[in-house]
Amino acid sequence: DDLSNKIAAGEVVERPASVVKELVENAIDAASTIIEIEIEEAGLSKIRIIDNGDGIEEEDVLMAFQRHATSKIKDDKDLFRIRTLGFRGEALPSIASVSRLEMKTSTGDAGTRVVIAGGKVEIFEKASSRKGTDLTISDLFYNTPARLKYLKTVHTELGNITDVVNRLALSHPEISFRLVHNDRKLLHTTGNGDVRQVLAAIYGMNIVKNMIPIEEKTLDFTLKGWVSLPEITRASRNYISTMINGRFIKNYSLAKAISEGFHTLLPIGRYPIVLLNIEMDPILVDVNVHPSKMEVRLSKESELFELISGSIKAAFKTKQL
Ligand code: ADP
Ligand code: MG
Repeated sequence: DDLSNKIAAGEVVERPASVVKELVENAIDAASTIIEIEIEEAGLSKIRIIDNGDGIEEEDVLMAFQRHATSKIKDDKDLFRIRTLGFRGEALPSIASVSRLEMKTSTGDAGTRVVIAGGKVEIFEKASSRKGTDLTISDLFYNTPARLKYLKTVHTELGNITDVVNRLALSHPEISFRLVHNDRKLLHTTGNGDVRQVLAAIYGMNIVKNMIPIEEKTLDFTLKGWVSLPEITRASRNYISTMINGRFIKNYSLAKAISEGFHTLLPIGRYPIVLLNIEMDPILVDVNVHPSKMEVRLSKESELFELISGSIKAAFKTKQL
């Protein structure tokens, strides 16, 4: 049908970072408390995700690799209502079709090992493993040379991966994340639930010391987050992270509303470091654009924007007192 076609636009596995995003989201959905991500050559030679989550029962393993077998939504509007990050039942089948994949998974007792190459199941067997899932993707895009060619430099692709993992860590301070690239540790969070510690792991404690909390509640919206003081700026909007109901989203005017909160305090072309979560009724969120990009339209937008810029201004004023 139309919705599944729209969703199946094939952008699920655009690049290594999208693979990492989908796999880590699966680990989060499986109620993991520790997620380890090992990357080699920006994900092109290896992406390994080890989690301590629920695992998959032997009889469900092959179904997980079938398109839409596990789909959870019937309607666009369900997206912001469902609690899991995954909903399309599409990531694993897509990833498996463009790579060599090995998965070991266990729900606690017996475990299963499956090896798939280019979408073809080559090995399916019982295997002992501890509870959780250990998934390795090798040779991503080995059978889709056009896709390989379209990728940017190792540097850029790795940057995208780091962004993805940072964001997931920020929206899940209760989970411990470890990201390693070519044996170099890029991120390690404790999982103790304190978002400030995640900010410190990403940006450094010196930056976090210069961030102030935002908290605001109205009938329609609850804002919670951290913004850097006006003297801590960056040359890109990339450091402005916005979430709706705990999900990262992109909305240009939201980032603009945040910058406006800084009013004349920011030099031209400089942007703050911000983490902002907005809790609101999902009915006010319109996911009319491609869901994997998380671009949304919001009702009561101007009300929300006033609230955001107003609370940032107020936070700076309080700070000065
Ligand atoms: P979706 O996340 O949209 O449901 P996916 O293709 O990403 O679809 O995953 C298919 C199914 O495989 C999931 O619904 C889940 O049941 C199972 N699964 C995938 N990864 C894991 C994991 N790390 N731990 C437990 N179950 C998993
Ligand atoms: Mg998924």
